[in-house]
Amino acid sequence: MTEGSPIDYRGRQDLAGRLALVTGAGQGIGAACAEALAATGAEVVCTDIDPARAEATAAALVARGHAARAAALDVTDSAAIDALAASLPPLDVLVCNAGIVSNTPAEEMSDAEWQRVIDVNLTGVFRTCRGFGRRMLEAGRGSIVNIGSMSAEIVNTPQPQCHYNASKAGVHHLTRSLAVEWAKRGVRVNAVAPTYIETPLLHGLESQPGLIERWLDLTPMGRMGKPSEIASVVQFLASDASSLMTGAILRADAGYTCL
Ligand code: NDP
Repeated sequence: MTEGSPIDYRGRQDLAGRLALVTGAGQGIGAACAEALAATGAEVVCTDIDPARAEATAAALVARGHAARAAALDVTDSAAIDALAASLPPLDVLVCNAGIVSNTPAEEMSDAEWQRVIDVNLTGVFRTCRGFGRRMLEAGRGSIVNIGSMSAEIVNTPQPQCHYNASKAGVHHLTRSLAVEWAKRGVRVNAVAPTYIETPLLHGLESQPGLIERWLDLTPMGRMGKPSEIASVVQFLASDASSLMTGAILRADAGYTCL
């Protein structure tokens, strides 16, 4: 049995003609994902809870000759998600990236703090997949990439983040569950599990004496990651280069979870 030759391997990563949307695209990993998708041909809807930041990401892409636009979107707002989904053609690519963190010992954590992190990080991914996924299912195609974390598998001490770790474990299993539900309907669902990435999310932690050194000691590659190093994995999962993959959780963690 042969597929025929030659195979257009380079073309499989080309997103020309595809419509993509990224949540939390105002900075950090989300902004890098928007750039990676736009740079490989997609038209990208850059969304963030902060409309000015979403606008800045989209404007920077347009200034570089890419196709992009901005929209305000809070992933805790189901009605806003569904309204934006209804206003757009079905997406080809959805990146569920928006996330938050805080540091509080479990015994001191309020219901409100627990609920806020679960609401944004886990329920937000569910709402976003549901809202845009419905349209993708109608179209019978699409690739969803969720941003999980190595914290879904390991407890990244010494920061007390039980809500965050639980939310990311939920994202990984939500990814597998949706992948199975939607596999025969043309919609793939995968996730990326990053190590520590140099973004504003980590601001404040850097000032804790010895923390970065401890992380680097625990990391086989001995360094943190850059947003673009997550964005290129997202681009792969978004593209036809990963056409046989669904329900995969790709570790991009510099070897951290091998130890
Ligand atoms: P950043 O804080 O740098 O960026 C996240 C963006 O999402 C911010 O613009 C933030 O706005 C926005 N956002 C927050 N809440 C909402 C909401 N309810 N709806 C829409 N947008 C929202 O984070 P990172 O780029 O570092 O993280 C991106 C994703 O990667 C997150 O899911 C995070 O958990 C994950 N991750 C990050 C790692 C890291 O080391 N940086 C490691 C592993 C995973 P605002 O600033 O106003 O809150």
